[in-house]
Amino acid sequence: METEEKVFEILQKYTKKSLVDFSWARDSDLGIYLVNSECCSSIYLGELLKNDLKQASKVLSHELGHHYLYRGKIDMKKYKHGSDQRDENYVKLIEADADAFGAGLRSAIRLEWCYLQ
Ligand SMILES: [Zn+2]
Repeated sequence: METEEKVFEILQKYTKKSLVDFSWARDSDLGIYLVNSECCSSIYLGELLKNDLKQASKVLSHELGHHYLYRGKIDMKKYKHGSDQRDENYVKLIEADADAFGAGLRSAIRLEWCYLQ
């Protein structure tokens, strides 16, 4: 199995183990993380990402970053699109944290599954 395929497969396993619902979304190349209730969260990944598993892994690991770093801790007034209190610096900080989490996670997966096997 190719490296990118393996990394994506493991990220999907982590998503399942994290009890986060996963679905593909039509006509999109983006990812979305949603907290549905106290116990339930979802990640939607644009199905156009199926053509580029490296990018799919990047997006999925970023969304897992939102789950692990900020689940239930985000000030939605400052984060939400269209909110009159939206704070671009606050949004940038959260997105950068999710990116960093995702990059670290992908590196750890590559180390475990590609270099140490
Ligand atoms: Zn994000």
